[in-house]
Amino acid sequence: MHVDIVPIGELSGAVKREASAGLRAVYDCDVTVHDEQSVPAGAYDAKRNQHRAEEFIELAGRVGSGEKNIAITAKDLFYRRRNYVFGLAYLDGNGSVISTYRLQTSSDGGFSEKSASEIFGDRVRKEVVHEIGHTMGLEHCDNNRCVMNFSPTVREVDIKEQNLCGTCQRSVL
Ligand SMILES: [Zn+2]
Ligand SMILES: [Zn+2]
Repeated sequence: MHVDIVPIGELSGAVKREASAGLRAVYDCDVTVHDEQSVPAGAYDAKRNQHRAEEFIELAGRVGSGEKNIAITAKDLFYRRRNYVFGLAYLDGNGSVISTYRLQTSSDGGFSEKSASEIFGDRVRKEVVHEIGHTMGLEHCDNNRCVMNFSPTVREVDIKEQNLCGTCQRSVL
């Protein structure tokens, strides 16, 4: 499998490296990083001061050269009625997105000795692995250590591991 990472708006090299490493480690796939794309003009909702996640997915699917493509942005994203999303993907689609905006918070629930930058890097890896999992047909998993667990807060992201649980692994790998 080939996954193309599509940076949308300015994105640090560290985020691109973490995302690539996370995907390679879990899916053993080829990963490329696309040229930076500008933020789609129609994606911004002025009333919410947030961007619509769907338009980032659409852009990644359109310009990405992978079988699966994942947009990564520092913009704050929302989807329908949810106040915010860390990421979004459609089941079995070829496009997906994650936002680093709300992953930067230093809160880690106090159970980790890791530095803020390590915690942030782990969150980026988990989120890209999670969204690509959806594009491969995986739904949310009840196992709270599994990367496919639904994690609406950074605390829940921090609790889960970067890997698929055995059950999820058997259904896609
Ligand atoms: Zn999910
Ligand atoms: Zn699982």
